[in-house]
Amino acid sequence: MRSAFLFLASAVVALVSVVQSAQPAPSTKTMRVDYFHTGGTAPETFALDEVVIEPAPWPGRAGVVTDTLRYGAYGFDVRDAATKALLYSAGFGSIYDEWVTTEEAKNRARTFHESLRFPAPATPVTVTVRKRGPQDAWQDVWTVDVNPKDMFVNPSAPDPDPGAVIALEKNGDSASKVDLLLIGDGYTTAERAKFETDAKRLLDVLFATSPFKERRTDFNVWGLVPPARESGVSRPSQGIHRASPVGATYDAFGSERYVLTFDNKAFRRIASYAPYDVVEIVTNTETYGGGGIYNLYSTVSANNAYSPYVFVHEFGHHFAALADEYYTSPVAYLPSETREEPWEPNVTATPASPKWQDLIEPGTPLPTPWDKQDFEARSRAAQAKRAEIRKRNLSETEMEKLFREEQQMDQRAFPAERYAGKIGAFEGARYEAQGLYRPAVDCIMFTRSPDFCEVCRRSIAKVIDSHVGR
Ligand SMILES: [Zn+2]
Repeated sequence: MRSAFLFLASAVVALVSVVQSAQPAPSTKTMRVDYFHTGGTAPETFALDEVVIEPAPWPGRAGVVTDTLRYGAYGFDVRDAATKALLYSAGFGSIYDEWVTTEEAKNRARTFHESLRFPAPATPVTVTVRKRGPQDAWQDVWTVDVNPKDMFVNPSAPDPDPGAVIALEKNGDSASKVDLLLIGDGYTTAERAKFETDAKRLLDVLFATSPFKERRTDFNVWGLVPPARESGVSRPSQGIHRASPVGATYDAFGSERYVLTFDNKAFRRIASYAPYDVVEIVTNTETYGGGGIYNLYSTVSANNAYSPYVFVHEFGHHFAALADEYYTSPVAYLPSETREEPWEPNVTATPASPKWQDLIEPGTPLPTPWDKQDFEARSRAAQAKRAEIRKRNLSETEMEKLFREEQQMDQRAFPAERYAGKIGAFEGARYEAQGLYRPAVDCIMFTRSPDFCEVCRRSIAKVIDSHVGR
């Protein structure tokens, strides 16, 4: 989500850019198209809400920037209305595209608020949302014409003002950095300093994990903490409801550990005060939980013993479109009816020729054997204990103790695997015990492991490259 446009004649641009190269480029504004996305038992429809100019400047690269990664269930293109030239494109995931795979979507219609952000153009553009179909065929599903001079384009500073932007880490000009924004949700005015402490603790772990470790200076990190009336966020399964500024809540889709905000407008209004490419919403809560959606946001509960791990795992979803490699934990999604090749870079349905084939050493069997039965027996026992802890509403310390035991057993078992540390195609991934394969025995996207597998590391590095223009 980056770039800036030049609308002058190319010869003039070349001359001006040479003459002015020593001066900082004038900052491009950020345009945001807000819309409603409906589906389920109703036909899938899109309807414009409003077009705004965000308070913070465009955080991305200058010039025409198009999406070469092609991740996400959806994507959008911004084209010059007159010449049809492609000015900007990006892929994205949404709450909607997860929701349509739940039981609820079979029985009711529902509307989600979504946003598209791109460098504000000087002349009219056409914005097209496209949807991935079978065999990665893309279909245009919504088109909207945007005239930047239209009187309804809203440049006002939105409420609530979340307060001063905190520079948690500044490594250079936003145009050539990944701008990561951490937003605290459920922090009162008195807890502002606590947010900074929480944010720094989480960032320390992110930047201790490869490849973020090696690429730290490619990031700027910003913080925003809109003051909450009360501490904490909603947890409906425990009767806890909070009107927190960002609207983060546990129990998304009925999954107790899944934290999302469904209030996209509130989230976007707050975030718009900082330059951001990617966002992690940090909730001022203790219960284990989080979530992450490609190019939307990720979430993490700040005060759990496993918060740093969850932070990194969920950021993997949001930043690099990584799929969950786990398959034994309960989720709200129904099993998919087709066995299509998933678009995520770290899961495959074709073990004989996975998309990460170049990383597989010759002689590695495909699919690659591992002690699946032993893992599943361990995992089943842990899941049963976990459900019991939540059912009896025992303390978070009990849950953390269980996670530690589970982690210790995994860390003993995995290094003993014949193909430990090797890349292959290991059956069991993305909520499916059979038919889907992950690249390694272990990874942060699989268990509470300390490291990403090599395929995930490479995918993350590619996304960093795409932001910094390498
Ligand atoms: Zn992985």
